[in-house]
Amino acid sequence: MHLLLLRTKPVCAIVSTGYRTSLVKRSIVVIGAGPAGLAAGIAAAQCGHHVTVLERNNTAGKKLLLSGQGQCNVTHSGSVSDFLTHYGSAQQGRFVRPALYHFDNEAVMRFFADAGVPLWIRRDGKVFPKSMQAKDILNALLRKLGQSGGQLVTNTCVQCAEKGNDGFRIETNSGTVTADSLIIAAGGQSYPATGSDGNGYRLAESFGHRIVTVKPALTAVSVRDYAFSESAGTAFADIPFQIVHNGKVSAKRCGSVLLTHTGLSGPGILDASRLIESGDIIRLQLIPPEKLSPDLYSGKRTLKNVLQTLGLPETFLLQLFRLLDIPVTQAAAETNRLQRQRLESALTRCTFSVQQCGTWHEAMATAGGVDLTEVERQTLESRLVRGLYFCGEVLDIDGSTGGYNIQFALSSGFLIR
Ligand SMILES: Cc1cc2nc3c(=O)[nH]c(=O)nc-3n(C[C@H](O)[C@H](O)[C@H](O)COP(=O)(O)OP(=O)(O)OC[C@H]3O[C@@H](n4cnc5c(N)ncnc54)[C@H](O)[C@@H]3O)c2cc1C
Repeated sequence: MHLLLLRTKPVCAIVSTGYRTSLVKRSIVVIGAGPAGLAAGIAAAQCGHHVTVLERNNTAGKKLLLSGQGQCNVTHSGSVSDFLTHYGSAQQGRFVRPALYHFDNEAVMRFFADAGVPLWIRRDGKVFPKSMQAKDILNALLRKLGQSGGQLVTNTCVQCAEKGNDGFRIETNSGTVTADSLIIAAGGQSYPATGSDGNGYRLAESFGHRIVTVKPALTAVSVRDYAFSESAGTAFADIPFQIVHNGKVSAKRCGSVLLTHTGLSGPGILDASRLIESGDIIRLQLIPPEKLSPDLYSGKRTLKNVLQTLGLPETFLLQLFRLLDIPVTQAAAETNRLQRQRLESALTRCTFSVQQCGTWHEAMATAGGVDLTEVERQTLESRLVRGLYFCGEVLDIDGSTGGYNIQFALSSGFLIR
């Protein structure tokens, strides 16, 4: 494929830090046609710049098409200020603020409605296209890019890039491109078959950027000597849990937890997975201690039936009783002190030793990425290289489940203008 040289000669001096206030039509190359790169391409093209989005795959948005099991949970309902707590630490919350306030969840809803793809809010607050088809979200972004005058070039993998006196020189598998500004929107490292395989970090490093160590996020964990595979599918809604690292409680969280065939999942664990490492201990509080009053251990009903009245599922109790060596037919009143101690400890501090915290092939997001201290949060321009920008998951930002990642990809893309 032949690539055009995209540089447009400036007709007067550029005065500002970003290209937003430039007085001339500039050439902008975006690396990656995921939601972040497409949004950045649309925003720049709408400002009248000459935009080319380079995508290594033969089509755009492969990961976007997989999102929300093909239904694309594009954002979440609620106030934008609530969003700030869904991206990890306070530093991350501060960093995402300008992008989210610039293009919030309501802006997302307006943008897609305007593009002929109305969205709807599910009861749990997740926002989807009414059609429940991720392809409609992708097609809307592609249409908007085209209508704004931006160009998408597929099958073009950026191999390296550098900045000289004359702007950026970008080497691809199909030739060399030059540009006044370069936006790296190459995504994270999870689901590498979608095209985002971590090479965006190498590109950022080549410009001198530091990469905060990456790890799989939004992933289930497997558990050592797991004893509950027969209870796979059992869910505990909104329970408190602790993560213990090197013998110390490193995080306390609350969320829904699902038992799987090999370990733990569910929104609570997925969201906490950015903090969990192999060898950590996860302690679930399945029942608040105050619910385990001495009155429970009286009467003729079986202990299992009594515990079921507290909301504990039968399949789980059957397995727990087997583990604790308590007969399922045992009457509540027959529970001895040792049984009671062991049972209460299992229900209030159910302990799992983490074998592995997901793999790159199962994680839905990447924790870590381009160090936020080296990027201007108001413009997303690099503090090290003028004219270089980052948006989306390549940055050290990963959101909770519920639409927060695509929202940030879009918000950060639209912030660069
Ligand atoms: C299974 C799954 C389900 C998900 N579901 C949801 C969901 O419902 N809601 C939600 O909010 N988030 C979801 N996510 C996360 C969300 O999809 C990502 O956070 C989001 O796509 C990130 O957008 P991005 O544009 O930054 O990166 P990406 O979508 O990863 O796009 C980056 C693009 O850059 C291209 N690229 C990379 N390197 C180069 C190169 N050198 N040259 C050219 N092109 C390159 C890649 O091919 C890719 O197309 C899900 C993720 C997965 C894996």
